[in-house]
Amino acid sequence: MTALLEVEDLRVAYGKIEAVKGISFSVEAGQVVTLIGTNGAGKTTTLRTLSGLLKPLGGRILFEGKPLTNIPAHKIVALGLAHSPEGRHIFPRLTITENLLLGAYLRSDKAGIEKDVQRAYDLFPILGERRKQAAGTLSGGEQQMLAMGRALMSQPKLLMLDEPSMGLSPIMMQKIMETIVELKASGTTILLVEQNAQAALSLADQGHVMEVGKIVLTGTGADLLHDESVRKAYLGED
Ligand code: ATP
Repeated sequence: MTALLEVEDLRVAYGKIEAVKGISFSVEAGQVVTLIGTNGAGKTTTLRTLSGLLKPLGGRILFEGKPLTNIPAHKIVALGLAHSPEGRHIFPRLTITENLLLGAYLRSDKAGIEKDVQRAYDLFPILGERRKQAAGTLSGGEQQMLAMGRALMSQPKLLMLDEPSMGLSPIMMQKIMETIVELKASGTTILLVEQNAQAALSLADQGHVMEVGKIVLTGTGADLLHDESVRKAYLGED
């Protein structure tokens, strides 16, 4: 069976600095796969390359068996990859509904779009309650919900989430993680980048630990959660 996403020996550099040094992993349809690792490990760089925002130095990216390298970002969205970026990047002056609709800019099925806006409100009721307000008035956690809701508006085959728990209170983080579980249950395939290894590994089918541009350890979420070196390095245990 072909994986939904296959990354083979991917290398990405900023000038002379190689941030991703030949990583390989795959994501099967229906799975949640997580990349964990400390600051600067190359996780964001990997997602930005998959989205077409950065050009790889080498390696292959296959989505549904077809190469993605050299395809521009907007076409990659059209193929079914959506990216909820680190730092959220919502449009603060636009309303919550307007932000969601921007996620559907490639679609023309009005009824379907309306249904998916409603689905975002069902997933995150606070967004529905405040739909007419400027998105900049939302709290950090709520903006994260909006970024996820907006990414879902393109009906992605693969949803990429970059550090959805960053800067959130434990309660908000819990809510975001529960939503990821809910999305998985409804069949969404997710590639999750997280510094919060405990949360990410608890819900992931597969996990990869990244250190300075390389994948140093791979396993099921449960295996990595119980791995002694992971526990020491990422879960703060002695
Ligand atoms: P974080 O969680 O802090 O985002 P990360 O694992 O996502 O960490 P990246 O953001 O991918 O890591 O960064 C990987 C490396 O590339 C780091 O050494 C970083 O300093 C470097 N880097 C990232 N963006 C740029 C850039 N625009 N120009 C030059 N170097 C960069």
